[in-house]
Amino acid sequence: MSLASHDHLSLPPEEVVTFYDRASGASGVIVLHSTALGPAAGGCRVWRYAGKQAATVDALRLAEGMALKNALAELPFGGGKAVICLPDGPFDREALFRTFGREVAALKGRYVTAEDVGTGVADMESVARETRHVAGLPARRGQPGGDPSPWTALGVLQAMRVAVRHRLGAELSEVTVAVQGLGHVGFALCEMLHQEGAKLVLAEPRSEVAARAADRFGAMVMSSRALLSAKVDVLAPCALGAVLDAPTVAGLRASVVCGAANNQLADEEVARTLAARGVLYAPDFLVNAGGIVNVAGEYLGWRAAEVRRRVLAIGPRMKAVLARAERDGVTPHQAARAMALDRIANAPRIQAAA
Ligand code: NAD
Repeated sequence: MSLASHDHLSLPPEEVVTFYDRASGASGVIVLHSTALGPAAGGCRVWRYAGKQAATVDALRLAEGMALKNALAELPFGGGKAVICLPDGPFDREALFRTFGREVAALKGRYVTAEDVGTGVADMESVARETRHVAGLPARRGQPGGDPSPWTALGVLQAMRVAVRHRLGAELSEVTVAVQGLGHVGFALCEMLHQEGAKLVLAEPRSEVAARAADRFGAMVMSSRALLSAKVDVLAPCALGAVLDAPTVAGLRASVVCGAANNQLADEEVARTLAARGVLYAPDFLVNAGGIVNVAGEYLGWRAAEVRRRVLAIGPRMKAVLARAERDGVTPHQAARAMALDRIANAPRIQAAA
């Protein structure tokens, strides 16, 4: 299959399960995009959707993204996602997540869930009362689990180091990085970049957090909008998705974009515009895989050292993606997507060798 067709390939999902339970008010969708490499793994999002159709569209998109992310990270997992529509009015959270847990249980290990936007550890503990196919539970001593954000930040750092060397021929200690969003991942990333000697410019709407970071890292704080066109070397989006649209890219002065946010590109065309402008865009689903590696380690019972080894591998993988992009004359985003799809297509061979 040619790279050009890879770029547009959107495989149909293997299975879509919709559920509704009048007693708990739980209503949602579970998408198993692919189980070729292993159980479909991906978190559970709770969001206020316009309706079942909007929830399904979101779940389909997110599940495909997880299939690419898990394949590229060389995890023994396929891709999946669950979304639950936030009920109107008050509801019993425990009952809602137990209903969801029973839906996960009914899939008999073909789908593994964890936290995502709008869900937390306590919710996953409710799910765990109904099924063992859940991660994101409190970590036991020395074992993977708990908050995946520090692992995500560590993976972003590895990819950024490689991208900066490749595009600017510089080390992190020599560059200025603009970090958008100082939440769980963004703040941890700032700590790591500060230790590496990078200069930081920050944007965060929670003013007390922004002030704390400015003080701690000697960083300049800007509005989120100003940050996107700041004169910096690297932009690290760690807040919202779809941050890279045509107007943002037109105003961008960074040479490298490398951050944790999911689905940073408003559309596929943006990746080509970035490349045409000489901006190295590090594919988000490659860069931010540290969190799912930790979740996989928790579910499969790996030791913390194994999680660390696999998160550090994000750096060499970034290098491999850049090499393939150059070889094939495509963007790093296209190259990463092609590598992930190759792995899914070769799943029977990979599983036979395991
Ligand atoms: P978070 O909710 O803890 O942090 C997001 C931060 O962004 C918050 O501090 C929020 O105030 C800030 N923010 C919101 N709007 C902003 C704006 N316009 N400009 C600047 N800052 C803004 O989330 P997180 O867990 O740190 O995740 C950050 C991103 O990384 C998300 O897109 C998430 O999907 C993605 N991601 C996270 C993980 C993980 O391990 N947590 C893993 C993979 C991907």
